[in-house]
Amino acid sequence: MSNISAKVINLADRRAKKENEARNAPIFSVITWLYCPKCKSLEYSELEMPNGRIHKQCGTMVEEEEVEIEVRAEYTISLRNSKLLDKLFEGTKIPGFLKPFAKKGTGMLESLQVAEQEFRRRLENIVDGSVTPYPDEWDENSLAMDLKTLEPLGLILTEARQPNLHFPEAES
Ligand SMILES: [Zn+2]
Repeated sequence: MSNISAKVINLADRRAKKENEARNAPIFSVITWLYCPKCKSLEYSELEMPNGRIHKQCGTMVEEEEVEIEVRAEYTISLRNSKLLDKLFEGTKIPGFLKPFAKKGTGMLESLQVAEQEFRRRLENIVDGSVTPYPDEWDENSLAMDLKTLEPLGLILTEARQPNLHFPEAES
């Protein structure tokens, strides 16, 4: 192999490595928890509003708490939650006399699934595009944070998704 072609391969290698690193690089951002002291309601927003905001339903200025997040980690965990929900959903497709019970269960799974999808949509808003999740071997326990497992389903909540950590006074 000539020196020149070795160099070209080297450059291509380096570029591929760089691209790979960029794809797997953490993305830091924030989401904001909003608490209405009047309605005692909690919601989150991916939008930062330096001048504050009011609760549409009642006109009260909401209290805000910014939570630092790593978008790619949040996205990966949410995707894993969704996969788990799909599996649980399959498991609830039972016939006959258990139907009324199953209906209630699947309704809950469906709303949890919607919440995961919505959360990922907000993360995509933050990066203004699609988010590449971490590979399968990535371990969420490598994060320096208290993950909460929602029993008995096994869904994992990051600190950003535990509003009572940020507004202990809210009933949720
Ligand atoms: Zn309100």
